[in-house]
Amino acid sequence: MKKMSRLKLFTCLVAAVVLGPSANTSQAQTAGQPAPDHPAVTIQGRTFTPRSILARNMGTQEDQTTQFPPHKIIGNIYYVGTRTLSSFLVVTPQGNILIDSTYERNIPTIEKSVMQLGFKFSDIKILLGSHAHGDHQEGDALVKQLTGAQVMAMAEDVPALQAIKPGGKEHPIDKMLRDGESVTLGDTTLVAHLTPGHTRGCTTWTMKAQEGGKTYNVVINCSLRPPAVLTPALVNEFNHSFKLVRSLPCDVQLGDHPAQYNMQEKHAKLQNGGLNPFIDAASCTLEADIEEAMFHAILDEQRKAAQP
Ligand SMILES: [Zn+2]
Repeated sequence: MKKMSRLKLFTCLVAAVVLGPSANTSQAQTAGQPAPDHPAVTIQGRTFTPRSILARNMGTQEDQTTQFPPHKIIGNIYYVGTRTLSSFLVVTPQGNILIDSTYERNIPTIEKSVMQLGFKFSDIKILLGSHAHGDHQEGDALVKQLTGAQVMAMAEDVPALQAIKPGGKEHPIDKMLRDGESVTLGDTTLVAHLTPGHTRGCTTWTMKAQEGGKTYNVVINCSLRPPAVLTPALVNEFNHSFKLVRSLPCDVQLGDHPAQYNMQEKHAKLQNGGLNPFIDAASCTLEADIEEAMFHAILDEQRKAAQP
């Protein structure tokens, strides 16, 4: 038994060293180093492992770069991302805000989606992000180059963002944000909530959207996916973040990967007319439920493996 658990811990630690806590974790994991297939947690009848969550989030290489039909989510918020990498456009009379550029190679696809919705890519005035991983913010420099948008980022993510340099391009940072700071353009205000763990500056965005004479609370979650090895510092960060995201008023939950809010199923329901399927307060904490259960399962496994 002793040998087994040591071996298990060793395997996890090797995986952690190989994957590293760097800006490239998700890419590294998809580029041949699979996430571990243990532990497993079951939420609402569905079983997840770190590997299955990563596969659910990323899909295939093709999914990461193939346009998903651009669509209005609610109010002035639109989806302009690929099948598995979210990019959101917030439209205001004074110009638009883009949240997450994704991979640099996806910029022409995002531009096409913005145009197909009837908006101009050059009207993007502010570029925000969820977190400093290449699959979410690698394209920032190119978006800045094409639109002149102001790039704003949570201060805690700035060092990791500066390490993302596609083709040697410096990562632009025009303004550093602090936890709780607001970003306003036209009639829209987004609030940046620091929800660290997945990255140091992982940012959950909240805003209000109007539809049918009503106001809805929208929460755009940053990934809550824990890594294979949890240090005491990470444990503190995740505990803070799970508590915080659960405290946010929410009618519409979105996420940096569409699978985090079952976009495909909800989008399919759009065609039926009737109530907006993205208004779904009951599922607002589902992703936090999955990731928090996984976090505790990883922690338990780690503690057992460390026992003499
Ligand atoms: Zn990530």
